[in-house]
Amino acid sequence: MAGLLDGKIALVTGGSRGIGRATSIELAAHGATVAVNYNSNKEAADEVVSTIEKAGGKAAAYQADISNRDQVNSMVDQVVADHGPITILINNAGATADRTLRNMSDEQWDSVIEVNLTGTFNVTKKIWNLMGEAGGGHIVNISSIVGEAGRLGLINYATAKAGLLGFTKTAAREGARTNIHVNAIAPGFIETDMISGLSPEMKEGLAKEAVLGRLGETEEIAKVIRFIVSESTYMTGATIDVNGGMYIR
Ligand code: NAP
Repeated sequence: MAGLLDGKIALVTGGSRGIGRATSIELAAHGATVAVNYNSNKEAADEVVSTIEKAGGKAAAYQADISNRDQVNSMVDQVVADHGPITILINNAGATADRTLRNMSDEQWDSVIEVNLTGTFNVTKKIWNLMGEAGGGHIVNISSIVGEAGRLGLINYATAKAGLLGFTKTAAREGARTNIHVNAIAPGFIETDMISGLSPEMKEGLAKEAVLGRLGETEEIAKVIRFIVSESTYMTGATIDVNGGMYIR
């Protein structure tokens, strides 16, 4: 059976774990060839590639720290050389260093802005013209409920994720002329390594904040991403909340 994404080349940043892993698997299951980006965890990225290949899909792992422009540029050049133009970009890689404003160090501020916000700029900027010349495509930026509503102790992360919403809206306006659709997803709290440090009591408290009464699963984000890049044709500049009703506008 033909897949909705047959022949498409997708780059998933931070594809080695969590939401990026589930997204890489989901896009490959629908026919895309997936470039699975990772920063330091080669073993995890290789596991994602092998899971995809065992299911009959196509994928390869690519190392780059998205906050490092030289590494991003080399990675994108390599993906294009190996597979052809990227027409699906999932800006998913993210990192945290949680502190209140009072206790935040300059390094914690800088590192979270550099990965979550500037990293997304770095990858998008490198791919932008290539995607336009290839006839357009889809970019999905993974923001967060924290960027919409704020959250105590996450001021660097909230700022970066809110920045991604402005980035998404402006890129959508600029990308329309070359048929590049740009949207954001704002997940609630999802069971991944990113929140594995929270105590069971804290997780229970978070689950209670969602009207659905539980945390989210990675696949629940991946399926929404897959819908955007394969079936949505009249959506750009949007932010999709996938948060179990934890934050209802
Ligand atoms: P995760 O399980 O901690 O995985 C993070 C991924 O990002 C890993 O693949 C990691 O690569 C990669 N990464 C981190 N820094 C990187 C860098 N500098 N360059 C390239 N890759 C880098 O995280 P997650 O929970 O799946 O989060 C994915 C995205 O969703 C993030 O943007 C996060 O902010 C957002 N989000 C998460 C939640 C949640 O509750 N989990 C909620 C809202 C939004 P390595 O494997 O090499 O380390």
